[in-house]
Amino acid sequence: MRLVALGPPGAGKGTQTVALARHFGIAHISTGDMLREQMRLRTRLGIEIEGLMNNGSLVSDDIVIDLVSKKLEELGDKGFIFDGFPRTLVQAKKLDEMLEKANHPLDRVLYITAADETIMERMAGRRICPHCQRVYHLVYNPPGSDGCGQCLDSLVQRDDDKPETVSQRLKIYHELTTPIIDYYRNDGRLLWVDGIGDITRITSQIVSKLEEV
Ligand code: AMP
Repeated sequence: MRLVALGPPGAGKGTQTVALARHFGIAHISTGDMLREQMRLRTRLGIEIEGLMNNGSLVSDDIVIDLVSKKLEELGDKGFIFDGFPRTLVQAKKLDEMLEKANHPLDRVLYITAADETIMERMAGRRICPHCQRVYHLVYNPPGSDGCGQCLDSLVQRDDDKPETVSQRLKIYHELTTPIIDYYRNDGRLLWVDGIGDITRITSQIVSKLEEV
């Protein structure tokens, strides 16, 4: 199975794509995680993209397409779900081109939606463990008094989850990513999912919709 998940930052793409990857036994590929890894390792690329990542702007299409194309080569025949890619029309068209060349077209594109106000509220409460990257929410998934339940480290707010950055990311999302929705809708690959509600119920709904097709 070859899938893509689209949707605004904070709509639950990360959580849902990890659950779906586990359910279908396919690879979970997050371009955000790949780029953050480069920053963590202080590679030349990591240093170059740091400013853009921290203020909520997109990294260039060329950089992301290069990382994705290497990843697809590594995967070979294995199925996957992309989380956070494509984010521009250029990336969407390039992905189709790469997959057609390999004779492995995309099966479905999930469009996970949520209103901007809900996203602002969700992101404001999000905290992560700097050690194991586990994600908590001050209201919906609160940590204990010791911080991370696994590492007991103090939790931090990711720079790109800060309110001013989130509103910048939403603005960019509406400008650049919305045209992709039309691109996929026109050829019938798009599957709409409401990202608000109980996490496991949303996963089951997506699984049954995918199994229907
Ligand atoms: P995410 O974890 O998916 O929210 O991504 C975090 C940040 O990584 C984004 O705000 C962008 O700066 C960068 N990023 C991730 N995926 C892409 C992409 N497909 N194209 C451009 N920039 C990306």
